[in-house]
Amino acid sequence: MATYDNTHRAFLQVFLSRGSLTFDESKPILAAIWNAQNTDEQETEPENITLDDFNSYIQSVNTAISPFDFEIRSTIAQDPAKQSSNPPTRLYALVNTTSDAISQLSTTHSADEIAFLKRVLDSMFETHNTRRNEILAVTSMQALALSRPPQSSHHVNGDTSTQTAAQQGLTKTEAERCLESLVAEGWLCLSRKGYYRLSPRALMELRTWLVDTYNIPAEDDDDSTAVTKVKSCNGCGEIVIVGQRCADLDCLVRVHDHCLRNVLRAAGGEVCPGCKRSWTGDVFVGEKAAQMSRSTGGARQSAVTNGAHSDSE
Ligand SMILES: [Zn+2]
Ligand SMILES: [Zn+2]
Repeated sequence: MATYDNTHRAFLQVFLSRGSLTFDESKPILAAIWNAQNTDEQETEPENITLDDFNSYIQSVNTAISPFDFEIRSTIAQDPAKQSSNPPTRLYALVNTTSDAISQLSTTHSADEIAFLKRVLDSMFETHNTRRNEILAVTSMQALALSRPPQSSHHVNGDTSTQTAAQQGLTKTEAERCLESLVAEGWLCLSRKGYYRLSPRALMELRTWLVDTYNIPAEDDDDSTAVTKVKSCNGCGEIVIVGQRCADLDCLVRVHDHCLRNVLRAAGGEVCPGCKRSWTGDVFVGEKAAQMSRSTGGARQSAVTNGAHSDSE
């Protein structure tokens, strides 16, 4: 591996200031870093930067920063507006690898704001993530309704400490501003149809936290005791918040739009790789699931199964 020098430090600095980067965005940056270092040599043009160059920098930086619980991870953006036929863009982000990654928000957000974000996450991954409707996103109206903690004694995940420490909650205006800053900081994405979902960076940072918080592993090999609210892609293994699901409600197979072609090819046709039922391609994960449920009246049904939770749009 190449030695760690000032060009690697400059590259890491770019991640520290920008948070995330694509390979294409990195080309002019790496070229500029090289040209600043090698003033007497021939200029490097951005188009001469290869993926191998880029990956070698990622690798060297990761070796240097891993003792500090940081890592540059990559993922492909899950965008409901993008068609699966578009070549997917890989996004690289500097993430904190500790399981309590959400606590890093405490440097920029108050305890009330973090408690609000946790209520929004509960809403995404529990209230709006039912057996029938895996929306995994909330409208701004749904999010703002969570500005104050619920008055009832209902505690999600037994997390009572958060709620007693932050009983006050936020005003609607504060909650609105908090959502705006979470979008600006790259934690949430706001879709064209007005749904908030987790950003690619947040999914990379919060992967462990989400699984620990919302999934319950099977007890004594009894699969019926397992709760899998956070589901992984059959193709790439990363969390699916936008994509497709098997038409069988009891089947756990989920696939990103950009992974679907490879998954079906590996399955040997238009069949679910898990249960072998035919893959219909019209059962969605993400905000499309909300649009489907509205047209079929499924939203009312899920409001009933959710008990106290409001599932209104
Ligand atoms: Zn995938
Ligand atoms: Zn299946």
